[in-house]
Amino acid sequence: MFEKVLIANRGEIALRIARACREMGIRTVAVHSTADADAMHVRLSDESVCIGPPAALASYLNKAAILSAATITNVDAIHPGYGFLSENADFAEMVQSHGFTFIGPTAEHIRMMGDKITAKRVALAHGLKVVPGSDGPVASEADAMAIARAIGYPVLLKATAGGGGRGMKVAREDSELGEAFRLARAEAGAAFGNDELYMEKYLIHPRHIEVQILADSHGGVVHLGERDCSLQRKHQKMLEEAPSPALNAETRHDIGRIACEAIAGMGYQSVGTLEFLYENGEFYFMEMNTRLQVEHPVTEMICGVDLVREQIRVATGAPLGFTQSDIRIAGHAIECRINAENPVTFVPSPGKITGYHAPGGLGVRVDSALYSGYTVPPHYDSMIAKLIVFGNNRNECLMRVRRALVEFVIEGVETTIPLHAKLVAEPDFINGDYDIHWLEGFVSGKNGKDQ
Ligand code: ADP
Repeated sequence: MFEKVLIANRGEIALRIARACREMGIRTVAVHSTADADAMHVRLSDESVCIGPPAALASYLNKAAILSAATITNVDAIHPGYGFLSENADFAEMVQSHGFTFIGPTAEHIRMMGDKITAKRVALAHGLKVVPGSDGPVASEADAMAIARAIGYPVLLKATAGGGGRGMKVAREDSELGEAFRLARAEAGAAFGNDELYMEKYLIHPRHIEVQILADSHGGVVHLGERDCSLQRKHQKMLEEAPSPALNAETRHDIGRIACEAIAGMGYQSVGTLEFLYENGEFYFMEMNTRLQVEHPVTEMICGVDLVREQIRVATGAPLGFTQSDIRIAGHAIECRINAENPVTFVPSPGKITGYHAPGGLGVRVDSALYSGYTVPPHYDSMIAKLIVFGNNRNECLMRVRRALVEFVIEGVETTIPLHAKLVAEPDFINGDYDIHWLEGFVSGKNGKDQ
């Protein structure tokens, strides 16, 4: 087992990892920017190293500074969390070549899945269906036009290096395609330094359903069921639930088995998520996330498995301590992502937390690095808390989310708590009747189904 781990992240996820480490008897090293000197993840780790100024490029994305911190604190391994360097294959390689263990998959697997065109080819080769689209990159507007006519409108242009929904544009007909192509290309170039695009058929009423995988380095692979992440705004998830209200036990079993076979075939190890669009009973592979995800707690709540602990264990080379038949999925869990944003305009609202009270009670978990007197810096993602609620069934879970949202007090900044409170009282949501476009309609005051 590792004796000391450096956590190359901040906020709630750094805290989440530090908690798992402490329970495993592993010492932790926090890294932080000058803006985060008073952050909770720094306070709750055994040691800390300042790695640079506030801008993420100079601190949390600064590979050399992080590796220096790892060297001077003499750690065994580095956990990248999510975001920042978590899916950076070069970083994973550097970590290994400096003699540390990267708590994640191999650099080859990160690279393979980071390129969305390669990822789709690999998925196809391992028995997964993919959304119909271009076979490879779309080189020009003329190419785009030919492919769009062949697969049929509407189409979606996507960045090969994509992430976070950037570099994605829809075209509904020929006349929209030129502009969509140019905009997607410009956005992809600016966001990823790589403006290569590919094209998919734009599905009209799919759900976003993802399967959580855990694999060791001895060929052991299990799935931990699915999460429904269809409630998105601007391709960003806002609320996730598990299990999906749209799947029955048989469908869950089938997609889980198919996912495990694909993962075993790829020789992948660590935690990972296969993301699918689910429409008319078909699962279309979209992409694979080769890291821990923001929404992992809903899976933990219904499976009783500590995913971070298992991720660390398999990174040491240990085999999984269980097989598929040991995994029991029971109850229902919902996660509300709470952002420091105006709940109507979504304008970020950083600033000082003047009052803070987290909800509690049976089945309620809050993953957050907030405390009263803390100042939310303006430099990073606006997510400040995750409220994760478990119930024996979906209805009990819904009742509990509602009361937990009422209890949650965050003063000094605006938050999206009021929006969540409205959402969990909405009949379509209560009925589980939503697709990936529904939330956009809901937040803009239109009926999502008419979108
Ligand atoms: P990113 O890597 O930028 O997050 P994804 O490929 O995961 O991009 O897509 C993000 C979101 O965009 C999905 O969750 C889904 O809501 C939507 N999306 C992606 N592909 C399609 C498609 N072919 N049709 C409709 N919506 C899509």
